[in-house]
Amino acid sequence: MNDKLKKTLIRILCAGAVFICGIIFRDVKYVGILLGTSAYLIAGYDIILRSVKNIRNGQVFDENFLMTIATFGAFYIGEINEGVAVMLLYQLGEWFQSYAVGRSRQSITELMNIRSDYANLMVEGIIQVVDPEDVEIGSTIVVKVGEKVPLDGIVVKGSSFLDTSALTGEAVPKGVNAGDEVLSGYINQSGLLEIKTTKDFDESTVSKILELVENAGSRKARAENFITKFARYYTPVVVAAALCIAFLPVLLGSELPLNTWIKRACSLLVISCPCALVISVPLSFFGGIGGAAREGILIKGGNYIETISKLRTVVFDKTGTLTKGIFKVTRITELADVDENEILKLAALCESQSNHPIAISIVEEAKERNLFSDEDRNLISDVQEISGKGMLCSIDKETVYAGNEKLMELANLKAEAVDSIGTIVYVAKKDIMLGYIQVSDEIKDASKELMEDLNRVGISEKVMLTGDNKAVAEKIGEQIGISKVYAQLLPIDKVNIVEELLENKRRVGNLAFVGDGINDAPVLTRADIGIAMGAIGSDAAIEAADVVIMDDNPKKIVTSVKISRKTIRIVYENIIFALGIKGVFLILGAFGSIELWQAVFADVGVAFIAILNAMRALKVNIDN
Ligand code: ADP
Ligand code: MG
Repeated sequence: MNDKLKKTLIRILCAGAVFICGIIFRDVKYVGILLGTSAYLIAGYDIILRSVKNIRNGQVFDENFLMTIATFGAFYIGEINEGVAVMLLYQLGEWFQSYAVGRSRQSITELMNIRSDYANLMVEGIIQVVDPEDVEIGSTIVVKVGEKVPLDGIVVKGSSFLDTSALTGEAVPKGVNAGDEVLSGYINQSGLLEIKTTKDFDESTVSKILELVENAGSRKARAENFITKFARYYTPVVVAAALCIAFLPVLLGSELPLNTWIKRACSLLVISCPCALVISVPLSFFGGIGGAAREGILIKGGNYIETISKLRTVVFDKTGTLTKGIFKVTRITELADVDENEILKLAALCESQSNHPIAISIVEEAKERNLFSDEDRNLISDVQEISGKGMLCSIDKETVYAGNEKLMELANLKAEAVDSIGTIVYVAKKDIMLGYIQVSDEIKDASKELMEDLNRVGISEKVMLTGDNKAVAEKIGEQIGISKVYAQLLPIDKVNIVEELLENKRRVGNLAFVGDGINDAPVLTRADIGIAMGAIGSDAAIEAADVVIMDDNPKKIVTSVKISRKTIRIVYENIIFALGIKGVFLILGAFGSIELWQAVFADVGVAFIAILNAMRALKVNIDN
């Protein structure tokens, strides 16, 4: 409990004590009134001040205003104790609300408790404990068993298993050795590690993730905006209705005295306070975002929760998303009078400047065959990577090409079609086609299950996009169960296809694009929802996507749909519940069957239940 909450509680208790004294001495002339008024002021002075301030700023109608005039009304008709009780209960309710909100914020922060407060910096062989913010890129830090990795880096010494679950939701520990990348937020489980940092604190994974979760609240869902707007119109209507109930009946010749009607009007004001909605709706979205984070899914705002909950079409990128994106060279075919090792070496030189998974596999293979070492990179110049086509560079003043048939067109070469299920990388030098390298990728185990799970949650439109050739694409589509396959696409074609699909909004509904973040940032931003997978560590993807799945398990897509639907359900439950109960009480209040203090109970109780319900969004039970 923070200081502010503590102070408020003490104030409410003091006001309560004075109030009780007031009731005890109610028969002593003036003393009862004096004590009652004091209790009222102690409990509610801030509410009155706030409503006066709001009136001055032109924002008349809010719950402070409602409470102030309701209690003034009670005082006016001589029901001092009722007025004090209303103010006390209202404040107590508000206090509970702040407490609950604080608690749920705290549990989200705790669950995101991935930031390390210190780093063991190695300076000339001696360890110094420093603030992670002060560690420069390229420093060496030591992470002991049980400690959190404070900054992103590369292991230089030691080997260990790391618990990555706080970031990825993945339960199986990850083994690392010298040369492997480690991210801040992992927990070292078994061995001492020496790490050379590659990023400073603000650029490290933990900082990025925390920033994301903290900013998520600012992107409002439609339901949240609805509530804010609703409160703006609703309160003036209620005040107008209260005025009518207070004065109209007597003017129209009612037999009941004016004070009875004023009292009814006051309870109406109290009941109609919209706080249950105003607090519980954003809290539910916050809970949903927190619950998803716990599963290794970052959702960047409440608006995206709303969109995912009504997802109808999912468009997948093939490489790295449905397939592992880990290629292996399976065959090399000569088409000219050259040795296959020569083809591989030239290709590897070109590809050494690319991060594409295909490029990595070719370089690996060349290294394994001892055809290539890192110094050989000096042999090449004028390197160009053409997205969706391949690489070209200059070796001994001659241009070397490594890529698909589209790249060969650039070299004015006709690439003969190869009937194979692997991806083909043609290799050409100047204007001679030397041969081709066949590389192949594996389908992720979870991909096929994902399609079935998507059907089960009612998402039946699935589309696969790829820059790879048609034969490979169709084969993979068939194996995992996607019938709509578009192949041989450049990154810009992918954007066009998504736009075409979106033109027929009625049929496709909300559309998500799922990619691995390698050259698909434009599509990620164009889709209704851009989902980046396995994106942890890739800043570009984290930036461009609306939803970031931290490990590369495609089934998390279904998890995020389920979490979003649950969150939305809770939001609507709260809206219907709160408005329903209030409606009933409003009618009862207008007919005079409710005492003022019962009205406060109705208001505070509804808010309380709605908040408890909202906190359920934080708990992820994926099976429901
Ligand atoms: P995907 O759409 O499957 O994610 P990309 O758009 O990354 O694939 O690449 C599409 C195609 O372009 C690849 O299948 C490959 O034929 C070719 N390509 C792209 N980059 C390279 C590269 N560095 N080396 C060789 N071929 C490449
Ligand atoms: Mg790709």
